[in-house]
Amino acid sequence: MDNRRVRRLEEAVVNRIAAGEIIHRPANAIKEMLENSLDAESTNIKVTVKDGGLKLLQIQDNGRGIDKEDLPILCERFTTSKIRNYDDLQSVSTFGFRGEALASISHVAHVAILTKRDGDSAGWKTAYSDGKQTQECSPAAGNKGTTITAHDLFFNVPLRRRALKNANEEYTKIVDVVTRYAVHYPSVSFVCKKVNANVPDISTLSKSSTPMNIKALFGPQVAKELLRFETEDTLLNYKCNGYATSTNYASKRTIMLIFINHRLVDCPSLKKSIENAYSALLPKGSHPFVYLSLEIPPSNLDVNVHPTKSQVHFIDEDDIIEHITDALSNKLSTCNTSKSYDVQT
Ligand code: ADP
Ligand code: MG
Repeated sequence: MDNRRVRRLEEAVVNRIAAGEIIHRPANAIKEMLENSLDAESTNIKVTVKDGGLKLLQIQDNGRGIDKEDLPILCERFTTSKIRNYDDLQSVSTFGFRGEALASISHVAHVAILTKRDGDSAGWKTAYSDGKQTQECSPAAGNKGTTITAHDLFFNVPLRRRALKNANEEYTKIVDVVTRYAVHYPSVSFVCKKVNANVPDISTLSKSSTPMNIKALFGPQVAKELLRFETEDTLLNYKCNGYATSTNYASKRTIMLIFINHRLVDCPSLKKSIENAYSALLPKGSHPFVYLSLEIPPSNLDVNVHPTKSQVHFIDEDDIIEHITDALSNKLSTCNTSKSYDVQT
C-alpha cells in the first residue's frame, strides 16, 4: 500500500483532534462547565477534582436542570439551547462554544450526567462518549440541578495526556478559574476541592460580596488597599466597574481579572494599558491587583472569534481601553493616601 495517498480520516479521529484544540487542559473544561452552570442560574456550584482533573472532573450545580428530551443529543456538536439562528449570535452575551463545549469534552473523556429540573418527580442520568449517548436515560434520585462528570480526560489523546503529567499544576489552574468566577459572581457559592480532601480549597458563601470574596481568596493585604472604581461612556457605549489596589499595595506580579459581559476573558491590550498606568505610579518591580467587569452591547463583540483564540476583541476597543485606563489612573492619583475600601467581614 502506498502510504502517501490522500485518505479521509475517520470521523471520530477528526472530532477528537478538533476537541483537543478547544479543550487543552482540565481548566478549559471547567471554565466551560462553570459557564453552563451560571447560564442555568445556579446559586451553588461545587467542583470536585481528582488527579488535576485528569482522572475526574466534576461540577455539581443547583441550576435549572436539563429537559429529559434534550439529553440524547446534548453532547452532539452544535447542539445548544442558547441560540436558534445566526442573528441570535448578535444578542447573546454567552461567548462559550455555542454548543461545542460538552461535545468537545465527550470526545476526549467519558461524560456522565445527572440532572433534575424543578417539579420533575425524579432526576435522570445518562452517559456519553464521542458525542453520542452511551447509556439510555434512567431515573435517578437527586436534587434540582445538574451534575456533570468527566472521567479520564484525554484517555484517547496520549500525547496530550503525557504533556499534562503535573496534576498539581492542573489543579492550580482549575482553582484559579473557580477563584476568578467567585470574585465576579459573589451571589453564587463556589466550592472547589480535591476528591478525598476534607477541607475545600475554595469555599465562598452565596450572598457574599466581591470585596469579601477578594479578601477570602486573595488575602487581607489585597483587600485592605482596594479601591472601587466605575466608569462609563454613552458614546463609546460601555460600562465598567471594578476593584483595584491603591499605590500603597505592591505585589511581585500583576493579578488581573477581566470579565467582559460576565465571561472571564483574556484581553491583553486592556491588561497592558492598565499595567502601564500602574508602572508610572508604583516602584519598579511592584505590581497591582485589578479586577474589572466591562459591559458592552453583545453586538459590539466579535462573535466569530474562534474559541481556541483566547483573546477577545470589540468595537472601539482602543478608545474604550484608553477611557478605562484614564479613569483608573485618576482614581489612583486622587486616592494615593491610605485607607480605601473597608471590607466587612
Ligand atoms: P452552549 O453552552 O454553547 O449552549 P454547551 O456544549 O456548553 O454549549 O452546552 C450545551 C447545552 O447543554 C446548553 O445549551 C444547555 O442547554 C445544556 N447544559 C449544559 N450544562 C448545563 C447545566 N449545568 N445546567 C443546565 N443545562 C446545561
Ligand atoms: Mg457552554
